Amino acid sequence: MSFQAESPGSAARQGWAQHEEQHLAPYAMRTQSSRGRRVAEPPHAYRTAYMRDRDRIIHCSAFRRLMYKTQVFIGQPSDHQRNRLTHTLEVAQIARTVARHLRLNEDLTETIALAHDLGHPPFGHAGERALAERMAGVGGFEHNRQGLRLLEELEQPYAGFNGLNLTYELLESLALRSKTPTAPDLADFCQGQQMLLESQVVDAADSIAYNTHDIDDALRAGLIDVPALERLPIWQQARERAIQLYGTALAESQLVRGILRALIDGQVDSLLAESQQRLAAVQSVAAVRQAAAPLIVFRPELEQRKTELEAFLMAQVYRHASVVRTTRVAERMIRHLFDELVRDPAPLSERFQRRLEAEPRERVVCDYVAGMTDRFAQRLHRALFQP
Ligand code: MG
Repeated sequence: MSFQAESPGSAARQGWAQHEEQHLAPYAMRTQSSRGRRVAEPPHAYRTAYMRDRDRIIHCSAFRRLMYKTQVFIGQPSDHQRNRLTHTLEVAQIARTVARHLRLNEDLTETIALAHDLGHPPFGHAGERALAERMAGVGGFEHNRQGLRLLEELEQPYAGFNGLNLTYELLESLALRSKTPTAPDLADFCQGQQMLLESQVVDAADSIAYNTHDIDDALRAGLIDVPALERLPIWQQARERAIQLYGTALAESQLVRGILRALIDGQVDSLLAESQQRLAAVQSVAAVRQAAAPLIVFRPELEQRKTELEAFLMAQVYRHASVVRTTRVAERMIRHLFDELVRDPAPLSERFQRRLEAEPRERVVCDYVAGMTDRFAQRLHRALFQP
C-alpha cells in the first residue's frame, strides 16, 4: 500500500514550511518532504503533519499504558524509579535539545522519541524474551515491530482506518530500529537505508537517558553504591565536572544529583561535537540515507567509556540476583498467561475475540499480552491461576 503526500494546506501551514526552510540544516527532514500517510487526510489548519503525529501518539491508549510498564525494575520498588513513560519523556527531552542544536526537525524528533518504546510488552525485556520464545515458529516477536503493529493496526480510535495513520517517516523510524529488518511486515520501510538523523538522535538520546537513569535507579534501589561507581572513568569525569560547577560544599546526595546531571551533559556534548564534525560535509537527507554509517555518534573515547559503564550496569544491576529473580518470575508469568490464553481465549476482550475467526490464535494472544501493563498482567495471572 502506498503513501500519499499531504497537500501544502493553509497559510499557517505554509508559514511553518517557510520557517523550516529558513531554520533547518540541509540534512534535516522537512515536513513538506514527508512521503505522507497511507490514507490521505486533509491537512490540519495549523499543525504540521509531524505535530499531528506527535499528538496522535500522546492521545493513544498505548502511550498511557507506558505509565504502568517496567523500564528495568519490575514492580517499581519506589515511586521515584523510572517506568517506561518517564523514561520516554527523558528521551524526548534530551532528543529535542540535540535536534534543536543540530537544526534538525524537532517536531519529528520528539514524535519518534515519544513512540520509540510503545511496543514494549509488560515487564520490559523479560516480557519480550518470553513472547519471542513463544512466537518463535509463528512470526516472532520484537518490540519495535510490535510498536509498528500497534500504530498501524491495533490502535483503533478512527472510523475510516485501523491504526493512527501516521506519516511514513515515523513508521520507518520504528521499522529501521528493528532487530529483524528483513521481516516481511517491514518490507515497506527497510530497504537498506540509514535512519533519518532525527531518528538517529533518538537512538543516542535513549542510550544517554538509560545509561544515566539506570545508575540513579540502581542507587535508590541499593543495588550499587557510590564507591563502586567511583571506579568508572565516566563517573570520575562527571564528578570533576560537577565539582567544577558546584564546588565541594555540596552534601553527598546533592553531589550525586550534580554528577548525574554532568553525566548527561558530558554525553550530549560529546554527541554534538562528533556529530557536527561528521555532518560538516553532508548536504541533504538523501546523503544521510545513503551514508555508510550513522552520523549521530559519540566521540570514540566516550563511546568506550559508555561501553565500560554498560558492562558495569550489566554485571551489577541487570544481572543482580534480586533483579534476575524478579525477571524470572515475570518471564514465567508471561509464558503462563500466553499458554493459558492460547488454550482458552475466553478472557480476551471482545475486539480480540473477533480477530480469532480470521487470524492465528498465537498472534492474537501475543498482541493481547504485549498490550498489557505490568499490573494488568499480574491481576489476570492471579485471576486465572489463583482463583
Ligand atoms: Mg527506550
